[in-house]
Amino acid sequence: MFEGILPRFGVTTTYIDGTQIENFERAILPNTTLIYLESPNSWDYKLQDLKAVAELARSEGIVTMIDNSYCTPLYQRPIAMGIDLAMQTATKYIGGHSDTVGGVLSGSTEMIGKIFRSEFLNTGSGVMPFNAWLLLRGLRTLPVRLERISQTTRKVAAWLKAHPRVEAILFPFDESFPQYELARQQMQGACGLLSFYVHARERSEIVTFCESLKHIMMAVSWGGHESLIMPKCASFKDSEFDASVKEHRMLRLYTGLEDADYLIRDLEQAFLTAW
Ligand SMILES: *Cc1c(COP(=O)(O)O)cnc(C)c1O
Repeated sequence: MFEGILPRFGVTTTYIDGTQIENFERAILPNTTLIYLESPNSWDYKLQDLKAVAELARSEGIVTMIDNSYCTPLYQRPIAMGIDLAMQTATKYIGGHSDTVGGVLSGSTEMIGKIFRSEFLNTGSGVMPFNAWLLLRGLRTLPVRLERISQTTRKVAAWLKAHPRVEAILFPFDESFPQYELARQQMQGACGLLSFYVHARERSEIVTFCESLKHIMMAVSWGGHESLIMPKCASFKDSEFDASVKEHRMLRLYTGLEDADYLIRDLEQAFLTAW
């Protein structure tokens, strides 16, 4: 959207490191109309201080919008913190069963009314009745699924953190997380997505690890019932892999609704196969 479509309408985008509020202050231009956030983001979970950004944006007359997919509306309430528009993929936690796609945009009646009458009626897409029914069904069990996933994830995260093959984990509610305090302040919970860095010399070791998992599938997306894994190096060639770059040894794990010990056993046997 920011790179391919908006420039055709004369809209330009400035990207910043959103972990520091000063970076927002410095990047605001006379024609800035929107600050678009994603907190936590979906690989390294960097946070933006939502109250501080909302306050700054209000004082400059700028609209704020957040992708709130990681937390869901149950674990983070951006509008209560002053953000104008909250966007949520319903494909992930709200649907919860990896069988439908959808999205939700929330905001004031005035803002949503304007978007509905113009952008939505002209270029938006309507959700099919069957998909809407699946989303409503998913929504009914969202609180219990999130509670279960949070517990399982904490257990799996602690196990990974203690594993000798794991250099570090990245998870907003882990005390080692760089923005742990902020995460605790503005999020009521952390979900099933975490990342970890393994000690590896070759890309093939990481490939063997992922392919040896019997129950955890290698796939993008998350938020459904089944656990998934995605290594950062999936998009590189063997020759591009550089073990001295920490990012290259990063894997993202999504914890679904399975039993924690069942997932740990699967990870354990894959570690033993790969190394
Ligand atoms: C998956 C994802 C989306 C897009 O969701 P779809 O419903 O699959 O289009 C948007 N934001 C984040 C952070 C995501 O992880």
